[in-house]
Parts: sequence; C-alpha cells; structure tokens
Amino acid sequence: MSAHYDVVIVGGGIAGLSLASTLAGHCRVALIEAEQTLAYHTSARSARQLIPSYGPPVVQELTVQTLDLIAAQDAERPEPVLTPRSFMLIGDDATVRAEASGHMRRITHAEALDLCPALVPDSFSAAGLDTGSFACNAPVLLEDHRRRAEAGGVDIITGARVHSAQRLGTGWELGAGQEGFQSAVVVNAAGAWADELAVLSGVEKLGLQPYRRTAAIVDVENPLPEACPMVAAADDSFYFRPDGGQVLISPAEHVPSGPEDAQPYPGDVERLVARLNTITTLGIRNVRTAWTGLRTEAADGVPVVGFDAEATGFFWLAGQGGYGFQTSSGVAELAAGLILAGQGSAGAAPAMSPPVFPAGDASPASRTAEALAATRWSIRR
Ligand SMILES: Cc1cc2nc3c(=O)[nH]c(=O)nc-3n(C[C@H](O)[C@H](O)[C@H](O)COP(=O)(O)OP(=O)(O)OC[C@H]3O[C@@H](n4cnc5c(N)ncnc54)[C@H](O)[C@@H]3O)c2cc1C
Repeated sequence: MSAHYDVVIVGGGIAGLSLASTLAGHCRVALIEAEQTLAYHTSARSARQLIPSYGPPVVQELTVQTLDLIAAQDAERPEPVLTPRSFMLIGDDATVRAEASGHMRRITHAEALDLCPALVPDSFSAAGLDTGSFACNAPVLLEDHRRRAEAGGVDIITGARVHSAQRLGTGWELGAGQEGFQSAVVVNAAGAWADELAVLSGVEKLGLQPYRRTAAIVDVENPLPEACPMVAAADDSFYFRPDGGQVLISPAEHVPSGPEDAQPYPGDVERLVARLNTITTLGIRNVRTAWTGLRTEAADGVPVVGFDAEATGFFWLAGQGGYGFQTSSGVAELAAGLILAGQGSAGAAPAMSPPVFPAGDASPASRTAEALAATRWSIRR
C-alpha cells in the first residue's frame, strides 16, 4: 500500500529542505532522505559563506535573491542565519582584474593588508573586495527549513534510500526502504547521486560530475580578527577565514569523484598548512578537524532546475556546485513556482491544488523565472 503525495522530494540536503519548506502548506509533500540524519553529506560540509560576486551571472542573481529572502526571515528568528563577512580575493593583477566586476571592487594593497594583517605583504600584488558577502549559520538555516516544512505538513522520512522509481499512470511510484510512495512529481535533489537517481528512474542522466573539496579547522598562534574577510586566492588555490578563535582553511581542490561519503586524502590539508605558514603570519599549529564534501556540477557550471524535457513530472534540482547555500532560497522559490504551475513539464502538467501563485501575481518566483529565461534555465541535453 503506497502513501499518496503531490510532490516527493528525494534528498534531504539544503536543496531538498529549502524546497520542502517553500512548498509546505501548498500541496502534499514528502521528503525522503537515505541517511538517518538530514544534511549528512555535502550540506554538512560547506564553508558557509554567501558571496554575491561568486559564480556566473545567473548564480550571482540567485545569491542576491537568497540573501534578501534569508534576511527577511532573520527578522523573525531568535538567532540570525546571516552575519556580515566580506570576501577578499588576492593574487596578481591579471587574475584579480578578471574577477573584479559587479559586486567585487578593486582595493589597494594597503587596504587589503589593513583588512587581513596576517598576510605576508609580498605574497600578493592585487586585491578585490566584496562587502556584500555574509557568513551563513548553516545549522540554523537547515533546522529552520525542517521546522517550517513539518509545520506546513511535509512528511520527512529519513533512513530510507529510494531504490526504485517508475511511471505509474500520470504520476510516479517510488520504493524507499520497505515503503511505497505515489506522487505526481518527483524532485531529484539527490546531490552527488542525482544522475544515479535519474538512471534508476529510467530518465536519461545529465552527466553531472561530483568534485571533491576539503576544508579544515586549524589552531593558530595568531588568531585572525573576527572582522577579517574570508580571503581567497584568485587562482582558486586556497581560501581561509576566521572561525571563532580558530581558522577555517581549504585547499580549494576540484578533483572528480564518484558519488560517495568523501573523506580527506592524506597530505592535502598538510600541504596547505605548510603553504599558509609561509604566506601568512597565522602560525598554524595543528589541524583540529578536516572534512571533504562533493560539489556536483553540470558541464556549464550552472545549477539544473526544472522539469525534465522528456520524463513527465521528473523535476531536477541538482548541480548546485559550490553555490548550494548561496542560491538555496532563490532556487527554492523558482522551483516551487515551476512545480506548482506545472510549468515546463513534459506532457500533461501535474494537477496541484491550490496553486500558490494566482495568475497575474508578480511573485518573486515568476519574476525570477522571467528574468532567467534567457539563461537556458531548463534542462540541457
Ligand atoms: C568544502 C565545501 C565548501 C563549500 N562552501 C560553500 C559555501 O561557502 N557556500 C555555498 O553556497 N556552497 C558551498 N558549498 C557547496 C554546498 O555545500 C552544496 O552546493 C550543497 O550542500 C549541495 O546541497 P544538496 O542538497 O544538493 O546536496 P547534499 O547535501 O549532498 O544532499 C543530497 C542528499 O540526497 C540524498 N540521497 C541521494 N540519493 C538518494 C536516494 N536514492 N534516496 C534518498 N536520498 C538520497 C543524500 O543522502 C544526500 O543527503 C561547499 C561545498 C564543499 C564541499
């Protein structure tokens, strides 16, 4: 006997949870997560920074929308998700100039050293600064999405891997653990496993590629001031930022991986520690903890959000790469608008009632969809 829903979301990371909380109260939704706990994989392993100047233009636009949406909710939260923390790029003139546009402005060498006195002066010659960047309290954001989703009637099922999915009449039938689920729409928010979920659903995969990225928390002799920006090499070879009395560091590697519970490779963090101890005065003493997550990307680096072109009712919410938190609320609004309207679904649009955005309502989601129409904001084959 299967449970019946309008939408089943597969994956309980930031992508699935933010969509669940946005759809909550508008239709019958279940979220199914393979692990015993929500946000076990990449969403528990990020650097928790939202940077308007980071990523291609469509990502930057979604980041600004996400910051606005989270800030509006912060007004109601006892503990805010957002704390201002600038983002500073350092490198040589050519690499910094290539990045310094829009939200990122050039600053002088002296200004960069004032902001981060730990930098050895001759370790860089040019710098850029994004003052619209924020640190994100990811655990609070994730928990808030879970709470809003459940308050709006979403059934959240953990410890149940979706092992089968097939078309049944006008909808889908899924098997997860010992249970069966029927729904009009299946949302693929399976992160590094998104292509795998497509294949087991009989849907052509998109060629999404997970890439490893490691981060660590280290003890230092000379702590950074809390106001110090996140500092990143313009050539993408490292970043670091204050983390309480410690420092978060990352070698910023981009190494292909299969979908898995990724773990740090021996030597990766140690090599970065040696380098940072020459180009900064941090004096890194030891590594407290290190972790690796998978940033899953489409070939063009743009998140994949929309109904599959051929499989009716199969909705992609994948390929967020290194932008999953900073685009989360903007993407969730867009996805919810498309799902509730049945917009872009191959074949008959799934019936949802009631629609969340009545015709003619210039909702944020419909405005975004329009604004992004020119950016191939649909499934690419
Ligand atoms: C080191 C590092 C630093 C980062 N820093 C930032 C940052 O500063 N800012 C930012 O915006 N982003 C950052 N990111 C990227 C961000 O973390 C990701 O984009 C985001 O977490 C992806 O979320 P997700 O929900 O798509 O994937 P996940 O969190 O991986 O969630 C997918 C879930 O789907 C589940 N699943 C898979 N298959 C099935 C199945 N068959 N049945 C049921 N469940 C299934 C998995 O168990 C998993 O929990 C960083 C990533 C890394 C690794």
